[in-house]
Amino acid sequence: MSVLLSGGMVTTATQSRLAAVRSTDGRIVEIGDLVPRPGEEVIDCSGCLVLPGGIETHSHLDLEAVGTVTADDFASGTRSALAGGTTTVLDFGTQFHGESLAEGLARWHDKARGQAVTDYGFHLAMTQWRPEFADEMAQIVAAGITSFKLYMAYRGSMMVEDDEIYAALSASSRLGATIGFHCENGLVIDALVREELARGHTGTFYHQRTRPPALEREAFGRLTTIAELLDAQHYIVHLSAGETIEEVRRARQRGSKVVAETCPQYLLLDDSLYGTPECDDLEARQYVMSPPLRAPENLDALWAGLADGDIQFVGTDHCSFNLKGQKDQAPDFARIPNGAPGIELRLALLYTYGVAAGRISPERFVAVTAENAARYFGLYPRKGTLLPGSDADIVVNDPKPSWTVRHDVLHDNVDHTPYEGRRIQGRVRDVFLRGHHVVADGVLAGDLAPGEFVPCGLPDSDIT
Ligand SMILES: [Zn+2]
Repeated sequence: MSVLLSGGMVTTATQSRLAAVRSTDGRIVEIGDLVPRPGEEVIDCSGCLVLPGGIETHSHLDLEAVGTVTADDFASGTRSALAGGTTTVLDFGTQFHGESLAEGLARWHDKARGQAVTDYGFHLAMTQWRPEFADEMAQIVAAGITSFKLYMAYRGSMMVEDDEIYAALSASSRLGATIGFHCENGLVIDALVREELARGHTGTFYHQRTRPPALEREAFGRLTTIAELLDAQHYIVHLSAGETIEEVRRARQRGSKVVAETCPQYLLLDDSLYGTPECDDLEARQYVMSPPLRAPENLDALWAGLADGDIQFVGTDHCSFNLKGQKDQAPDFARIPNGAPGIELRLALLYTYGVAAGRISPERFVAVTAENAARYFGLYPRKGTLLPGSDADIVVNDPKPSWTVRHDVLHDNVDHTPYEGRRIQGRVRDVFLRGHHVVADGVLAGDLAPGEFVPCGLPDSDIT
């Protein structure tokens, strides 16, 4: 079964050219000045961008947290991703207290298998550090999970101490793997939260007041200092603050093997959404995520970092909790389930506010939404680019139409979107997953082929 996408602007991280793309049996076989073969399906892509399918680097699907579970599981979360042009999702499998790493990973395979409709891989989050993990990590890497995650915040449930960070990085660097870090100083945050609650300050406003940007910068600086002692690969997940980018830049100049991920919410939303100290309306609770949204000046710094290569990829941290029945249940700001949805709109937001707004080039758009993640997580060139031999994971984006985000047109299973009312320029017109035509003329197919687990290779920090 052969398909020819003709007349489109074929765009990768390195170049854009008018060309046709032929795929056969789920793989790209030819790109260039191609003429249709007898019986071949031809799809006219004139006026459109032909892009590699997006790679989501950061999701939490079917995650049990704070006595509840995320609204999206692998079925709804990956449907939503696919509708928005993301064909591969890297989710955070999670080892909970008392579990071995293999047990945590096995549970995540069970959650995703037969449910996911994108291809998928995993990072493995470790909610604690135990010395035996140093050996267990080798089995996990051999099973195709080459990135781990540790938290520098959330004492008592997930936070690890500096000596544990050192031990974990020592183990992962021996294996050639990497670790992503949630960089916030959890001990100081806890002290600030206690102070505000003692003053009777329970409103959502205090979520950001108790997690200032300096505590992200400090945690990142401490992390990268420890990692440099070991020459260990590491990355910062969901970088949110301009001052942290400066630390990343300095670290990279020193030769630190560090890369950075940010998220659309930190590029597009700011801390005014938390309202005033007095208010505690439900609206504001949708923005309770950690790190929190930042002051407006950070947004420009993040866009500049994304354009200049200080930030290498954009994931959403899709961690969806309903406003009604979940986020509204907490008695104070410190107990609101943290997280927000975004997996479906990642490409649309980055295209609209990045490419169409003139902040990043179409090639940089591909780099930060697909190719850099594929290179870093060892999926390149199977994923993240358009080359003969690559999987036929292809997005056709029509740049002409514009539309307004309404939650009811999205495909997730949560009850809101933080981007309600946003104008979007362009539309994901067609999506192919390994050659399957899963979105046609903007409509998600009714019968979707199951997604496949994709093992990751060893990370390559040499990306910009
Ligand atoms: Zn996360």
